[in-house]
Amino acid sequence: MIRVGMFIEDRYEILEKIGSGGMSDVYKAKCHKLNRFVAIKFLKPEFCEDKNFVAKFQIEAQSAAALLHPNVVSVYDVNEYEGVYYIVMEYVDGITLKQYIDRNGRLPIKEATSIAIQIGQGIEAAHNANIIHRDIKPQNVLISREGKIKVTDFGIARTTTANTISQDILGSVHYISPEQARGGQVDERSDIYSFGIVYYEMVTGALPFDGDSTVSIALKHIQETVPPVSELINNAPTSIVRIIEKCTQKKPERRYQKMSSLLADLKTALISPNEDFVVLEPEATENATIMMSARDAQRLREEGAQANQRRIVRQQSADEYETFNEFDDAYDDDDYDEYDAYEDEYDDYDEYDDYDDDAYEEYDDYDDDDDFIDYEDYDKKKPGKKEKDPARKKMDKIILICGIAVGIIILVVLGVVGAKALKGGCGGSGKRQQSELIEMINVKDMNFVDAKAKLEDLGFTNVEAEYVTSETVEKGKVVKQNEAEGSRIAADTKIVLQVSSGKEVLALDNYVGKTQTEAQSALKELGIQSKITTRYSDQVETGKVIETNPAAGSQISKDTVVELIVSRGPEVKNATVPNLIGSTEAEAKSALQDLKLNAQVEYRETSSAADYGRVVQQSHAAGSTVAEDTTITIVIGVEPQTEPPTEPPTEPQTEPPTEPGGDEPGGDEPGGEEP
Ligand code: ADP
Repeated sequence: MIRVGMFIEDRYEILEKIGSGGMSDVYKAKCHKLNRFVAIKFLKPEFCEDKNFVAKFQIEAQSAAALLHPNVVSVYDVNEYEGVYYIVMEYVDGITLKQYIDRNGRLPIKEATSIAIQIGQGIEAAHNANIIHRDIKPQNVLISREGKIKVTDFGIARTTTANTISQDILGSVHYISPEQARGGQVDERSDIYSFGIVYYEMVTGALPFDGDSTVSIALKHIQETVPPVSELINNAPTSIVRIIEKCTQKKPERRYQKMSSLLADLKTALISPNEDFVVLEPEATENATIMMSARDAQRLREEGAQANQRRIVRQQSADEYETFNEFDDAYDDDDYDEYDAYEDEYDDYDEYDDYDDDAYEEYDDYDDDDDFIDYEDYDKKKPGKKEKDPARKKMDKIILICGIAVGIIILVVLGVVGAKALKGGCGGSGKRQQSELIEMINVKDMNFVDAKAKLEDLGFTNVEAEYVTSETVEKGKVVKQNEAEGSRIAADTKIVLQVSSGKEVLALDNYVGKTQTEAQSALKELGIQSKITTRYSDQVETGKVIETNPAAGSQISKDTVVELIVSRGPEVKNATVPNLIGSTEAEAKSALQDLKLNAQVEYRETSSAADYGRVVQQSHAAGSTVAEDTTITIVIGVEPQTEPPTEPPTEPQTEPPTEPGGDEPGGDEPGGEEP
């Protein structure tokens, strides 16, 4: 349980709760080690229990931790405290871009563009590191009080599961790319689409698509053209209109292909907003808006029929049944209302109905294999197309909705393209894929994400990760595969890839205050190497451990070399002895005091009057190094004493007078002199 005032790992002092999201609670904390504020995102308990989720979460957060860019919220650490997983991040004192837009309405073009450039730069840095954000939205952009823009939550979206998405999807669906909504492959261009929607929102103060349900909004992203910005605001600069248009193209290949080219246009737009320099990719086909290939539609139709068949038979495996249920819940029988709602909604966009009789029948394009369905291109008359049977049309429509809706359910259920989920729904893979045999490849040592993508490209539909510790294989990489390379197996065979969650970890004991030998032998017993560094300490006794690196309680692996920082006792500082010869006694004493050296004064008779009251000798040579607090004896020259003539001559006086007189040269004679 995280509470304000508590300390995490003796290091982070929890100061206040600053936010709460779908999967985490965010606190402001003070890092006492580096003396700075941090934001700590604690994974909600329900997610901490799911081992797979946690391992994925850690891998993703660690890859985000490698990102270092002024427009990216830095991730400092990913760790666990009493079963609660957390990410320590740069603390941004400010608000989210969403709050900023909500407060200010639409932003001036220049401001919106310069914010967009900063967001773009953050995304570009991630893309350069092969990290796709997947959830670009103004809620994930923080604006600091100094006006700095920082994008957060990189790659974390990939970790999301049913719960997180269902809670967060309302926030995310407004920015979702068509391919994401369909559950398709996601790449940099998907981030560029979402970026385009965020820029649109900044410039217009509104979202291009809204609706009552996530499904209806996602459908619009799939189907509808983003309305030109010029329709919403007066005098919209040409370049801005075109940049947004290019970012938000339905087909990824018609968008900016790289963040760098988008950034170049944004920068030009800042200087010459009204120039028409944005180059839109030409249409690949005659049709203006491409929704879904006829082949896809055909597949959905077949699979929908299979799903219907299955609904009757109802002989699902428990696993399939669960997924199937999700589908059922949303779209079947009793809940048909909801289905109807989608359908009604669909009807709203459904231009076919309006154009049926005009032989504008793009709907017929379903029949032309490899062609695309076009809902928009009403201008092109296609005479001679035969009217479709209304029942068949209805069926096609249902299948299409069903396919799209399932795509979204898949997102909700798995958060990734889940062929497994498809099994149950009418967008499922069906028997066609089950009978297909595919040759298994070797994916060992590949990054799990890449391995899964590669296997899915080959047609495998059921690839899973099982996280294991490994002393040799890097975190996130495949250690072992259950199906051997070269074996020919069905597309829907469950392929389990053992993925390294890193080395076996253990929490480091507290050795502070123990003697060096005690600590060393305790670590040795655990099979952990140690090394010694010494440091002065006024508090810790010589030979005892002041602290360890990593700190007590940290997660370490067996091959971590623990540094024991051992006390050398209080620090002894050195001083360089100055040249004191010729100085007055007072000058010499003060010079020594400044250097934290002690002065001891002796007096000696001298024949030279110029030496009276001045240092004639010093115990330590000038330039020599001595420890602070060393006593330096200085010898001050004094005038020789004149003896009464009656007395026999005596040895010259060697003992200094006990009470020296004045300090000034040629001043009073040393005390103790007989009158
Ligand atoms: P989740 O990932 O669980 O959805 P969010 O990322 O939305 O959580 O974070 C919740 C809130 O916490 C944000 O809206 C924001 O106000 C605050 N927050 C998140 N990260 C930081 C940060 N690095 N610095 C300051 N505040 C932050």
